[in-house]
This record gives sequence, C-alpha cells and structure tokens, in this order.
Amino acid sequence: MDLSYILNELGENRATYFNAVAPPIIQTSNFACRTIDEMRYMLQHEAEVDFYTRGNNPTVDMLEKKLAALEGTEHAIAFGSGIAAVSAAVLSQVKAGDHVVCIKKPYTWTNKLMRYFLPRYGVEVTMVDGSDAQNFAQASKENTVLYYLESPNSFTFELQDIAQVTAIARERNICTIIDNSFASPLYQNPAAMGVDLVVHSATKYIGGHSDVMGGIICGSRERINRIFSAEFMTLGAVLSPHDAWLLLRGLRTLPLRMDRIAKTTRQVVAYLQQKEQVAEILWPFLPEHPQYYLARKQMRNNTGQFTIRLNTDTIKEVDRFCDSLQHFLMAASWGGHESLIYPAAASYKEGNYRSSLPFTLIRFYIGLEDPEYLIKDLEQAFLKMKG
Ligand SMILES: *Cc1c(COP(=O)(O)O)cnc(C)c1O
Repeated sequence: MDLSYILNELGENRATYFNAVAPPIIQTSNFACRTIDEMRYMLQHEAEVDFYTRGNNPTVDMLEKKLAALEGTEHAIAFGSGIAAVSAAVLSQVKAGDHVVCIKKPYTWTNKLMRYFLPRYGVEVTMVDGSDAQNFAQASKENTVLYYLESPNSFTFELQDIAQVTAIARERNICTIIDNSFASPLYQNPAAMGVDLVVHSATKYIGGHSDVMGGIICGSRERINRIFSAEFMTLGAVLSPHDAWLLLRGLRTLPLRMDRIAKTTRQVVAYLQQKEQVAEILWPFLPEHPQYYLARKQMRNNTGQFTIRLNTDTIKEVDRFCDSLQHFLMAASWGGHESLIYPAAASYKEGNYRSSLPFTLIRFYIGLEDPEYLIKDLEQAFLKMKG
C-alpha cells in the first residue's frame, strides 16, 4: 500500500461524509438502532460496529485503519494515552502465576507497571539487558508468557535485535510486545520482524504538535479483538473523536516531519561531537556505537532523540548549561515541532539521589527548527556552562 494513500485516503469514506476533504469529527457517545434486530446484531458484533463510542467511533476508526496499515498489521485499537495502550497490551497477556521478561530501563511508567503493579497481581517480572537477545532465553522459565521490548529504549536509546528476540519467543510460544514510539511507525515496523503487538504513544511523533494524547496497539485481528472485549472495554481508556481527529491531522505530515527531524538531528549531533564539553553521545546511529549495524539493519532511518553526557563532575555546570538554553525547551514529552531537553539532573535533589542515571546525562529531542538556530543556542549555553 502506498504511504500517500494510507495517510490521505485510507479509511476516510469521503463519499459518506459530504465529500469533506478533512475527516469528520463524529462527536457522539451513542449510535441509534432502527430495529431490535439491528440492535441484536450490534450487541453481537460490538467489536466491529459503531454502537457506543467507548467501543467504536468512525473518526477513531479512521485513525486505527491508518496505523494498522503503517505498521503492516491486520488491525489496531486506539487508547486515550500511550501508557493506557502499554498497560492494556501487557495485561491482555498475563494472569496470576505467569512470568514476564522485560528489558531494563523501559519508559518510566512501563517500569512502574512491571516492577510494582504486575507483582501485586501475582505476575513475576525479570528485567534483562536487552542488547543481547540470549538474555531473554536465559531468563525464560516454564511459566514465561511475555517478552516486553522497547527499541530504542528510553533515555539511553539501546536497541534489541528484534528478529532474534522474536525467534527465541516463537520457539517457546511466548508473546512479544514492543513499544515502538521512539522509532516511529515510519522508520521501524516490528510486526514484519515477528512481534505480536506493536504499541505507540501517539502523543509523540504521530500527533506531532504537542497538543493531544493518545495510544495505539497494532496486531492481528484475533489479538486486537480479544483486547477489545476485555481490557479495552473494561478499563475504558477511550480516545475521544476530537483527539482522534487531531492525530489524523498529525499523520498527514508525518513523513515530512520525520524526514526533517532525521536530517536536523544528524547535523546537531555532528556539531555536538566536536565539543569538548560533550564526553559522550548515546545514539545508535553513530558508526562507533556498538549497535550501529543493528540500527541500520532494523530501522529505516534515525529519529530525533539522543542523549549526551556532559564533560563535567559538578551538577552546577549541568544546571548552568540547561538554564542557559534559550530556544530548547525543558519538558518531558517529545515528538512536536519544538526541540527539547530532559536533564537527568532534574531528578537529583541535594543529598537525595532519586535517579539511577548519572546527573551528567541530558536527553535531547530535535524538532522542526532550523539546525543553525539550534546550534547557535547550544553554542552560547556551552560558553556559559563553566560560569
Ligand atoms: C511517552 C511515552 C509513553 C507513554 O505515552 P503517553 O501518551 O504519555 O501515555 C510510552 N512509551 C514511550 C517510549 C514514551 O515516550
């Protein structure tokens, strides 16, 4: 399927909606049945029909069709946030007495789900270094039902060899889930590498404008329908039609934004490589990175995140560098038009070290600004760093 077709036409049914060029926002909670027989049909086929917006809604449905096509899966289901999609995907695979193998250092709230939430319900979780696929095999037990991946992962952008991990999973009949948010649905398609459920925080690249939250799970029709009638309908983390519309609007420009972000990121990284104030750049797209060949093998292009380690041993200098930036915003989320930093030092208070990450690490997200504009901002902040 052509990418342009997916983003501009697929699922939109323009003829049904007055041939409107922009998709309609079907802002309704309810859909009426004309006869009791129709209602009987609706109740029996709730996963496929528009009956109640907590289940299905035409605007949300357009988004789901497009994301399933982008990820190359049969079906997809949208949620009100990325973490709702992560939680529903994970909960759909486990029950008390089961065992999960998860990568170390996933996204913060995925980590909470794995370390605190699942054990409360009798599910045991082992966290492994995902950069060696054999670690998944070694950690597996008779009751292992799920491998959870995030590639690249949060903050340190380490990769897992997706095809190797899914091969190990298939031998043991273990389900695999991946959080694909950092790669975007354009630059990595894990279902083609054997992953069962692909999750995105749509809040990030898919929305692309820092003005909406959403999540998505892509997978086989059978798996998605099972999630629909259990976790989706009972937990109720529904995506509103208006938010689905904002995500559809974001999708229209996804290839343009990703292409621009990829190029600018390469330019900013090249600049940072020459700075003595930068001790290290954590980014698998540098040829000297140990996972460079894996990045080239399983991703189509780089995206906009990397982390630098500042060349300093005082948190004061980290603070001064961060506070001196005038155009980079300091914020948690990413994927919008604006470039951001997220300093690990923000989790450090005097005498109270809350982070497992060194305070010298700063995560970057590169947005849509001109590279020269960003580099100028970094240059003046480096000059102020030493005080
Ligand atoms: C932001 C994020 C999430 C959570 O998504 P929300 O939309 O904020 O709920 C999950 N995974 C990754 C990798 C993220 O960056």
